Amino acid sequence: MTPKTFKIKSFGCQMNVYDGERIAELLSDRGLAAAGDGEEADLVVLNTCHIREKAAEKAYSDVGRLKREDGSRPLIALAGCVAQAEGAEAKSRSPMIDMVVGPQAYHRLPEMLEQVSRGARPVDTDMPAISKFDALPARRRANPSAFLTVQEGCDKFCTYCVVPYTRGAEISRPTGDILAEACLLAEAGAREVVLLGQNVNAWEHEGKGLADLIREVAKIDGLERIRYTTSHPADMSDALIAAHGEIDNLMPYLHLPVQSGSDRVLKAMNRSHTTESYLLTIEKMRAARPDVAISGDFIVGFPGETEEDFEATLKIVEDVRYASAYSFKYSARPGTPAAVMEDQIPREVMDDRLARLQARIAETQLAFNRSTVGLDTQILIERPGRRAGQMIGRSPWLQSVHVDTDAAPGTLLDITFTAAGPNSMTGAIRQKDAA
Ligand code: SAM
Ligand code: SF4
Repeated sequence: MTPKTFKIKSFGCQMNVYDGERIAELLSDRGLAAAGDGEEADLVVLNTCHIREKAAEKAYSDVGRLKREDGSRPLIALAGCVAQAEGAEAKSRSPMIDMVVGPQAYHRLPEMLEQVSRGARPVDTDMPAISKFDALPARRRANPSAFLTVQEGCDKFCTYCVVPYTRGAEISRPTGDILAEACLLAEAGAREVVLLGQNVNAWEHEGKGLADLIREVAKIDGLERIRYTTSHPADMSDALIAAHGEIDNLMPYLHLPVQSGSDRVLKAMNRSHTTESYLLTIEKMRAARPDVAISGDFIVGFPGETEEDFEATLKIVEDVRYASAYSFKYSARPGTPAAVMEDQIPREVMDDRLARLQARIAETQLAFNRSTVGLDTQILIERPGRRAGQMIGRSPWLQSVHVDTDAAPGTLLDITFTAAGPNSMTGAIRQKDAA
């Protein structure tokens, strides 16, 4: 069967969301139509995440759920990091999978579909450097806040992490390609661009670093806001920190994962930063941009983590006063050094530590939100809220803001924060954006 309609389900990080958008554009370019909400599709692409065991297992239960009541099923492409990690084995685990395509090879999906139509079950987990970007069609659609991958892969090899194996070595896209894509996104309606990379602040091209790239992107007409994520503490250069005080449309927000507040654990994780160097970076950042919101990632229950190590993690949350943070229970990933370390932490201990950490993060997050009440600011409207007449936008500090307005997505709206909640803010309009 030649598929006429498709559906893409992306899981995990923002880079997967970006890849999902590019796959959709590629399939549309080949004449397939996106299936509407609630409609069945002839082809389903599961764009999977391998970072933790739960996410990886979900990929297979999702495949199983694609079987329809009458016993039929769509064509199924397993894409993303589970596809990369499991390759041909994925086909043996689930006979329903028709093709397996890794994150660096999805530009070849159209050829793979042809092979499937001839009865093959192709697997493509090649990593042909940067060529996927060259083979993809130009951007034609954009959300008000649009993702743009500028750097892929990772050479850091933190001992718990699968990314260096599933996404390959660090590669930076050339400046010209990135600027061309950013211009197209702006023309397609983006007002904000989020530069993405597994270690985005390690981006470099012809001797230029991320701060130089941001300066160039900031000149593009129509792009009012720039963000970047995710940064590694060891690659946070003074030039990038300084850029936060110099470039107006670079948002006052930094996602800088620390993972643990214990130097002993950081060493075992192979993180290449210490709590001291991390806190110094935050201090410099606050000197360059005093209102910056700091966000982070944490792992609890890394092998050998003691109660004392964990308490050091609680302490760093207090020291940094995070505006938001993601926290995870350590998940042993096959093939990573930490998976075979002694002293794996029992599940109940991890559950307890995660709950305590999340309670602490919730306190600093609420404190941050409360500290902004009364401020005049601008939000970028992204989508309708739950109530009629309400829209949700993002503040410069990435808070979700609920406002009573009929302003369309993409509008930059002047508001005053009127109330703070644990996970979002309420705002009232000051005056409508002339655009
Ligand atoms: N490159 C980024 C960095 O180094 O901070 C993060 C990339 S990773 C996709 C996102 C987050 O997943 C990490 O910051 C870490 O907190 C979490 N993570 C990665 N491997 C994990 C594992 N094996 N178990 C639990 N959490 C994990
Ligand atoms: Fe994974 Fe560490 Fe690389 Fe981040 S820096 S992607 S956590 S190996």
